[in-house]
Amino acid sequence: MPGPEFPDNAVALTIDDGPHGGWTPQVLKVLEKYHVPATFCMIGNQILGQEAVARSVVNAGHQVANHTWSHPAQLSTMPADKVQQELDRAQEKIHDTTGRTPTIFRAPGGTCSPAVFEAAAKAGMVPVNWDRDPKDWTKPGTSFITNKLLAAKAGDILLCHDGGGDRSQTCAALKTVIPALQSRGLQFVALGVQL
Ligand SMILES: [Zn+2]
Repeated sequence: MPGPEFPDNAVALTIDDGPHGGWTPQVLKVLEKYHVPATFCMIGNQILGQEAVARSVVNAGHQVANHTWSHPAQLSTMPADKVQQELDRAQEKIHDTTGRTPTIFRAPGGTCSPAVFEAAAKAGMVPVNWDRDPKDWTKPGTSFITNKLLAAKAGDILLCHDGGGDRSQTCAALKTVIPALQSRGLQFVALGVQL
């Protein structure tokens, strides 16, 4: 992982598929309340029209990661030049909008291929998946999401979403999960280096 070493009690919250004009600000509000940094894995084409929201994520002290331009489900089977375009176009939009150059790449669905690894490396990014997936994008219920995330232990990367649909269950779960994990002595960290 690029950047300084994390403390032994670190957990990392990653928020995928935004930015979204409605849900991203709500997630930011929860994070602010508990002084928690997170990593927002943004889809390049979701920034279109939501530039101010993308900037508000950075201005609140969070890290931004590259989650491709158009979130292709089949990224891992796409030819190398198309993969590179997906990553580079998102990288450019994120940089033009926020002034940041992501050092973390999150593949849609977490599926990588040699071409994906190579494209990420060329763009100066490390691909990062997750340890705890509450399937919040399927809207399984707040208590389901909460319980999955409460199973987190030190060193885990947690996956949540602020895009792709109604994320009220995600927001409600985070309001419980974040203070609960903090009270267990876990410390939230953001992934990546600020470039
Ligand atoms: Zn995604």
